[in-house]
Amino acid sequence: MFHGCRKEPVEKMIKTDEISVLLLEWYDRFARSMPWRGIHDPYKTWVSEIMLQQTRVETVIPDYERFIARFPALKDLAEADEAEVLKLWEGLGYYSRARNLLKGARQVMEQFDGNVPRDPRLLCRISGIGAYTAGAVASIAYDVPVPAVDGNVLRVFSRLFGIRDNIHMPEARKKLELLAASAVPEKRAGDYNQAVMDLGATVCVPGTPDCDRCPLFSVCDAFIRGDAAELPVIPGSAPQKIVSFSVPVLLFGNRTLIRKRTESLLKGLWCFPLLNCDPEELPSFLYKNFHIEAKPAGEAISARHVFTHLIWQMTVVPFSVTYAPPPSSGYAWFEISSLNNLAFPSAMNIPLKTVRSFQQINQKPIPDGTGF
Ligand code: SF4
Repeated sequence: MFHGCRKEPVEKMIKTDEISVLLLEWYDRFARSMPWRGIHDPYKTWVSEIMLQQTRVETVIPDYERFIARFPALKDLAEADEAEVLKLWEGLGYYSRARNLLKGARQVMEQFDGNVPRDPRLLCRISGIGAYTAGAVASIAYDVPVPAVDGNVLRVFSRLFGIRDNIHMPEARKKLELLAASAVPEKRAGDYNQAVMDLGATVCVPGTPDCDRCPLFSVCDAFIRGDAAELPVIPGSAPQKIVSFSVPVLLFGNRTLIRKRTESLLKGLWCFPLLNCDPEELPSFLYKNFHIEAKPAGEAISARHVFTHLIWQMTVVPFSVTYAPPPSSGYAWFEISSLNNLAFPSAMNIPLKTVRSFQQINQKPIPDGTGF
């Protein structure tokens, strides 16, 4: 939704003008410093906006700096190998973002002569770029006066204008998007959008907002009525599904068993075996399904990883292997010292830590008479 038409009632137009003036004054004094700010490079804005989706600024900064040091220009990224891009994305999770970014960079090279378009409608044709990112890139990198509406913006505007309908309903969402669009100033649209992002992240936060520090309290409906903490109205969301796995960390000489995922969740990343059996049954399960002879070599550790709609509940158990045939079904015995070169999701942090400390204590050569 990118429109320049402003059909809101006069009082709302006055109010939206006031909003941008107040917000820009506040931004000039309190803008957060970030390595992707103050530069007009659509590629870097694009990378930062993709990294910032569902990830905190503090987490993104070091990963962004590493990524840009390795791929300083769009062309460098477009020519990169997917495995290297995923490796650099390791700390950020949600790897489909990295794959789409790579695909998008190649698309820009092929379809737009290597120039990131300034028109949000063209930006939306690029892999991984939706309306929010298109608005952010167009406004921040090219100063096009369009909004960048995400959950933060919906929250801020539902409070400012006292929208008390369920914001997941299309009518309420549409109303909020129109209000957000009508508030974007003709000049400094990028700074304005970043100011709204900062306000939503630091002042008008979910739960109880910090209205005492807010530059917009004088024009805020929820502040005046005193119900800011109850807005926006969001219906209860479905509970996340919990999936339990036993995760054997197998030490066989200086190697361990891992598998490159082919499933859509975390596709292309390496994981330790995620097995559907009770932790106590692992020795017999390993023997029956992998012909691996192994005995427990330490305490089981519980680990939990939360995805958007799913929780992995894992029991990580170290094992010492006495016999193993060559692996099959996508598994591989990998040297523990080489694991650093592979891309693992953060869900594997505890198994990785376990195998490294376990190896330091127990390292032995692979026994003779095995299937290798
Ligand atoms: Fe949000 Fe409070 Fe500011 Fe209103 S006054 S925009 S509720 S922080």
